[in-house]
Amino acid sequence: MAYPFSFPITFFWLIIVHSAFYNKKAMNGKLLIFSAPSGSGKTTIVKRLLGQIPELEFSISACSRPKREGEVNGRDYHFLSVDEFKKRIENDEFVEWEEVYPGSFYGTLKSEVERIWQKGHHVVFDVDVKGGLNIKRLYGQRALAIFVMPPSIEELQKRLELRGTETPETLAKRVGKAREEMGYTKDYDLVIVNDNLDKAVAETMETVQRFIQQP
Ligand code: ADP
Ligand code: 5GP
Repeated sequence: MAYPFSFPITFFWLIIVHSAFYNKKAMNGKLLIFSAPSGSGKTTIVKRLLGQIPELEFSISACSRPKREGEVNGRDYHFLSVDEFKKRIENDEFVEWEEVYPGSFYGTLKSEVERIWQKGHHVVFDVDVKGGLNIKRLYGQRALAIFVMPPSIEELQKRLELRGTETPETLAKRVGKAREEMGYTKDYDLVIVNDNLDKAVAETMETVQRFIQQP
């Protein structure tokens, strides 16, 4: 008996099945948004979470601020000049972007979200409050928005000083912005007060596990 399918038809079906498989994987992808005033401990909590839940993957943002010591281009951020950043805005390459501090642009690339979903992973965002709420508005039930709160502004300032990454000017900018950001907690799905780090991580972990297991 002659083989019923010619090579082009078999090839065509293979492509359909392959793309349906990958689209299904991408369709199940969720979004976990973390926002917090700088110094609250959000990066510390997110790193612990990523280390413990293998289906989570960090969305590497683009930004135009200078690289800090120890940061790696393409791992911590895609570091761009202000001109390059603006070109990408014109090309409609961002899900969202903000001028988080005067002259410093930060944004989530559409290609980054697609890349992570295509792997069947859930996307973790570390974004400012406005960016976080924009992502939540865009994706609705598919997104969980978590706000990490410091126990107080005084403790936040102390943590930033101990982290040793700020000049007196950037420290003042970050503390000033923190007061403004703390007014947005009501718009988030979950507020975690990061007083005791282990407790904050455990609480976050439990909520995230429950959320990603939902159909
Ligand atoms: P963010 O990402 O919110 O700017 P980081 O994760 O960089 O904050 O944390 C700021 C500093 O506070 C870091 O030096 C970190 O080790 C420290 N830190 C984080 N959580 C706690 C905590 N619960 N108690 C004391 N220090 C903390
Ligand atoms: P940092 O300079 O400390 O790395 O980040 C400063 C602020 O920019 C943080 O609040 C961080 O969450 C926010 N940020 C980082 N990436 C993005 C992004 O892609 N979009 C938005 N809107 N904010 C971001």
